[in-house]
Amino acid sequence: MKAVYIAQHGGPEVLTYGDRPNPEAGPGDITLRVRASALNRLDLNLRDGKSYKGPLPRVMGCDIAGEVVAISPAARTDLKVGDRVILDNRTKCGVCEACRMGLDQNCSNQKRLGVDLDGGHAEYAIAPASNAYRIPNAMSFTEAAALPIVAHTAWHCLVTQAQIKPWDDVLIQAGGSGVGSMGIQIAKMMGCRVITTAGSDWKLEKAKALGAAEGINYRTTKDISQRVKALTGGKGVDVVFDCVGADTWEQNLLSLKAGGRLVITGVTSGAKATMDLSLLQGKPLNLMGSGGRSRRTFADMMKLVNQGSLHGVVDRVFPLDEVAEAHKVLESREYFGKLVIES
Ligand SMILES: [Zn+2]
Repeated sequence: MKAVYIAQHGGPEVLTYGDRPNPEAGPGDITLRVRASALNRLDLNLRDGKSYKGPLPRVMGCDIAGEVVAISPAARTDLKVGDRVILDNRTKCGVCEACRMGLDQNCSNQKRLGVDLDGGHAEYAIAPASNAYRIPNAMSFTEAAALPIVAHTAWHCLVTQAQIKPWDDVLIQAGGSGVGSMGIQIAKMMGCRVITTAGSDWKLEKAKALGAAEGINYRTTKDISQRVKALTGGKGVDVVFDCVGADTWEQNLLSLKAGGRLVITGVTSGAKATMDLSLLQGKPLNLMGSGGRSRRTFADMMKLVNQGSLHGVVDRVFPLDEVAEAHKVLESREYFGKLVIES
């Protein structure tokens, strides 16, 4: 089959479009004819070797949408050949202590499609049948591929971790990112008032179209926390959702009201930050990380997708042989939502 894979770590030039053996489904697996697969910032860390030291070659692509073309006889599933699905990209073992306690987000044997296992920048992909979820008939594969990781992450962070309430003011950093664009939709859907940041006015306009009430351009705004305070009657926000990391850390803490909740799901600008511990003590603040995500929260998120409440946000589409071009756009950050590869 045709696929895009890496055989060594490096820049976009190591992304190779070529022939790979068709994947061989194991017991319990389904085989998909992949139709679309989305890019994630995680792909850059896999490509350059920062987050993955495992064996190569590896077919890339963590977010996968396609049609079921084969089902292992051993699979316990109600899926049928021809079903249109997306995949939860984390496989869980089902037998470790965490899995047996119903805490599969902490499974000690989880593997990621597109990182630890071959992914979806290919004509075919395999996954455990339990990782596949049907998508609405009216939803394109391209839109569907833009959903799994960012929608799952945003739902998990905002609803499970930060437990957003309809009366909350929520600051979503990087509203133009994949996870930010999902966070805006979810917080708005839950009744929150959303304030978001982006580095361009055109991204802020798109963020407002998704449901943000206020936008802050972080390139032209000197003090984001002061602007947040001004927009919240001097109080600050109840919740901050952040995927940026070190660059936004201090402003996040200063933007929170007393008792505020901060949840982070990425450290793309850096992982090391200092903090004034008196802020934590005095306000007091609740600081949370994303951590693993459960099958339960994926199923919750899919209910919203199937009722038409949550939509994939696609910026641009590339053919399978142009993944390297797509990676250059991913590195440039000049996009809103997701970049999607069609197979
Ligand atoms: Zn497990």
